Amino acid sequence: MKNFKQFDVESYRILAELSEAITFEWDVQTDKFYVSSQWKLKFDYEPSYDHFSQNIRQALRIHPADRRKIVRYVNQVKKNIEGFLQLNNYAEFEVRLLHNKQEYIWCKFRLVLRCGDDNQPERVFGMITDIDAEKKEHQKLLCQAQKDVLTGLYNKATTNQLIEEYIAEVTMPNKKQALFIIDIDGFKDVNDHLGHLFGDAVIADLAHSISRTFRDSDIVGRIGGDEFIVLLKNIPKMDIVFLKVQELLKSLRRSYDSNDKTYEVSASIGIALYPDHGDTFDTLFQNADQALYYVKEHGKNNFYLYYEEMPQVQYENKRMTASTDESNVPISKSFHENVIEYIFKILYRSKDANTAIHLILEVIGLKYNVSRAVIHEKTEDSLYSNTFEWCNKSVPSIQAEQQGISADFVEKVHPYFDKNGVFSCANINLLSDELKLYFKDSPVKSLLYCHMIDSGMVRGVIGFEYYKHPRIWTNAEIEVLSFTAEILSTFLLKKRAIDKLKLSHVHALEIMDHIDSFIYVIDKNTHEVLFLNKKAIEFFGSHHMGGLCYEFISCEDGPCSYCPMLQITESIEQVNKEVYLPKRKLWIKAAVSKIHWNDDREVCLLHCHDITEYKN
Ligand code: GH3
Ligand code: MG
Repeated sequence: MKNFKQFDVESYRILAELSEAITFEWDVQTDKFYVSSQWKLKFDYEPSYDHFSQNIRQALRIHPADRRKIVRYVNQVKKNIEGFLQLNNYAEFEVRLLHNKQEYIWCKFRLVLRCGDDNQPERVFGMITDIDAEKKEHQKLLCQAQKDVLTGLYNKATTNQLIEEYIAEVTMPNKKQALFIIDIDGFKDVNDHLGHLFGDAVIADLAHSISRTFRDSDIVGRIGGDEFIVLLKNIPKMDIVFLKVQELLKSLRRSYDSNDKTYEVSASIGIALYPDHGDTFDTLFQNADQALYYVKEHGKNNFYLYYEEMPQVQYENKRMTASTDESNVPISKSFHENVIEYIFKILYRSKDANTAIHLILEVIGLKYNVSRAVIHEKTEDSLYSNTFEWCNKSVPSIQAEQQGISADFVEKVHPYFDKNGVFSCANINLLSDELKLYFKDSPVKSLLYCHMIDSGMVRGVIGFEYYKHPRIWTNAEIEVLSFTAEILSTFLLKKRAIDKLKLSHVHALEIMDHIDSFIYVIDKNTHEVLFLNKKAIEFFGSHHMGGLCYEFISCEDGPCSYCPMLQITESIEQVNKEVYLPKRKLWIKAAVSKIHWNDDREVCLLHCHDITEYKN
């Protein structure tokens, strides 16, 4: 037995030196530590070999946040905790090790413990492999699932987690970190007077300005409707914080005109510093928040740096309602509603169908940061042609090469589409070998394809492709992109069927039949109902077309005093409002927009949802 063990150790060492892997041993009795020669090649330093268990920090240069994993194991082995060694003679850890004295790389430790005849721990043999590339890829994919749809910044949960992790691991105690909480001033007015869609565009624009002000390595996220958070890392001197915040205040000042009135937005910023004002994320957040509240109380459009004597304020309640994840739900819902309205506006405002479709692909392509948005339509001879294409900057068009191509791919990929006609693939490399072949020479890394279906037959595919890296499509992205594809395909199929290139609003209205909410077109002055979508007809009956809206929608004797249409004026083109219909005992969320009609009438499009159950 003894001899066998000796052979075991020797052969292990020889194998270790011959192999590419980094191996190490820890002699528990003498507390000495050995590594194979590959260690020096990879990490560019000699670890210290003596008193390993006392000296793990010098021996391995493990990232502070991961050190605990190894220290705990070493202590367990040393103390020979009863039952531990028998049960756990093999262990695995993933930790970050300092590489080339400047960056940490992820490595995997596989450890085997050998005990002597007396059952006392004798040696630990280990193998270290570099898993940095796969670990970073995994983290990247996770991060993509954690972005805010509207702005492309990190969402609240991810921002908090990233900052928390960073604060816990700060390795440069002589450098400061600054936490900024930014709240836009006067944003509600913009929303209320210029519409939610406009408000969305303003938020996206402000977010862009915020992220442009900071370095890529800083952490920037959206934590609520008009609230953002930034961690400015490793500040060498305070001047930089003051310069940045001035720059930020300047770049976030905007004004918008509507109805002879000017609506101004600016930013209020609260700042707390690590380690001066807290050494945990929670404390820093509370203190920056208190500073922010102070700015709000003292004139806005400014910043305050937290200080200990700052008067305590009860601000938490406001945040509880403004930025919890639950309160984000209706916001993303209204964004989805806005997309419908936006697309509709493009469709009826554009002079011709081609322009409208190109514009929609572009708006959606930019908003969701895809590389290429493309429509492949089936032609008479059952081949496929790329009929519409939008390419992000620096992505070349391949429209000319994709004319009259075989239906092979569409047929092979058909079984992968779900019941809603959507096929999403986060990573092309995970496709079957047969399908992968089609992407052999293509830059596509990830895709989302939607079927164009007519009478149960596939008529084409609308695709959104991403070239930079694999990408997990979030549920919100899948929802909006597939919905856009549905509208586009309905429109396109109608357009092809009647073979009329000229776009008229009648065709656009037909599209509204495919939307699962109530849509009415009403003459603002006479209250005559000019159009009901399919859902409304199914509910009220088609005989109401041409009737008066207040009679059958709200069951009133005359025009309703609470009608959101009344707020539409020459310059207010859009109103979002929650209204109560007393006769029907219903709460309705209505989005009203002014639209153009054949003649000179003043006509409104009403897009309504029943929200009674959320109100009670
Ligand atoms: P203050 O100057 O005190 O900060 O007030 P404010 O007008 O900026 O309003 P406040 O910060 O209290 O509220 C922000 C508003 O932003 C509330 C909500 O109507 C709106 N909002 C929240 N999320 C979204 C969104 O995703 N899109 C749009 N368009 N509006 C949003
Ligand atoms: Mg605000």
